[in-house]
Amino acid sequence: MFKGLTVLRNSFLWMSQNRSLRRWMESSSTAHALTSRFIAGLSLEDGISLAKTLGDQGIQTALDHLGENVGTVQEAKAAGAAVLGALSSLAQLSIGGTVAIKLTQLGLDLSMEEGIANLEPLVMLAKQAGTRVEVDMESSAYTDRTLQIVEAMHLKHGSIRAVIQAYLYRSEADVHRLNQLGIPIRLCKGAYNESAVLAMAEKSEVDKAFLRLMRILLEDGKFPAIATHDPAILQQATAFAKEIDLSPSEFEFEMLYGVRRDLQQQIRQQGFNLRLYVPYGEAWYPYFMRRLAERPANVWFLARNLLRS
Ligand SMILES: Cc1cc2nc3c(=O)[nH]c(=O)nc-3n(C[C@H](O)[C@H](O)[C@H](O)COP(=O)(O)OP(=O)(O)OC[C@H]3O[C@@H](n4cnc5c(N)ncnc54)[C@H](O)[C@@H]3O)c2cc1C
Repeated sequence: MFKGLTVLRNSFLWMSQNRSLRRWMESSSTAHALTSRFIAGLSLEDGISLAKTLGDQGIQTALDHLGENVGTVQEAKAAGAAVLGALSSLAQLSIGGTVAIKLTQLGLDLSMEEGIANLEPLVMLAKQAGTRVEVDMESSAYTDRTLQIVEAMHLKHGSIRAVIQAYLYRSEADVHRLNQLGIPIRLCKGAYNESAVLAMAEKSEVDKAFLRLMRILLEDGKFPAIATHDPAILQQATAFAKEIDLSPSEFEFEMLYGVRRDLQQQIRQQGFNLRLYVPYGEAWYPYFMRRLAERPANVWFLARNLLRS
């Protein structure tokens, strides 16, 4: 049973990286029926409109203009401009919230310089707007370069948040270093297919690592974000924050749009800050496939929507 689920999960993760499937799926006319549960819509207006609705409910947003692994300078610059537009709109409309980006969307596969050139204007605008850019963490092939860039931007401007994946064996050392530098961290379990040499394969091991890092962050981190929908971990996080007398204003929870709305409500009702990660845009395929890999039962939801459309 567990073996079957692992095979299914790995198949979705493999499919998430297949470029031909991606092209075919993203041009499909039934895209909206497929994606509506996890993705705000295909346009910036869809993302902004949802961010506004959430803001009215006291929920912050991290808007994600979907895209990753671009192959040309033009695509990287276009992605940077699109995210800059999103951040400006959030600020101009006084919605609050911020943006989340992937460095491969801004050209990291082309060069470090290209990634930095497209990230820096975002960080500068975030600073002006009194917020911070969230730099998602991609597969382990990018961990070193991503953290190097985040650290350099932090030293120059501040206004940036790193992401640490609990499943990587290296993460505890990274957390200590980023804490020392005063860089805010979003802690998540990790969503990519990694080798057993670099990452824990067992869910129970990942959960334990998450709890260990979460405690370090709540005790020593700067405005950490605990990003999970795991009810047991959420319960431990709120209990630990109370135990160490940490005010709810000193950290936040982050969850994904479309996942566990019941827990999202509970967290707000308990008086904790919540930020939702809200993706929008046409390059939805890899993000969507990672969500399927996390919970193969989502395939039934998908099938129902396809039959309805
Ligand atoms: C705000 C946010 C930002 C993230 N950023 C990154 C990142 O930058 N890099 C990265 O590698 N990963 C990122 N992730 C993904 C993360 O690594 C996990 O893959 C994902 O959150 C599932 O793990 P979980 O902590 O919710 O725990 P799990 O143990 O996987 O799930 C706990 C419960 O949550 C529900 N659930 C979880 N996922 C789904 C789903 N897809 N569909 C329906 N229900 C679900 C189920 O009820 C499940 O029992 C992010 C997650 C969040 C919440």
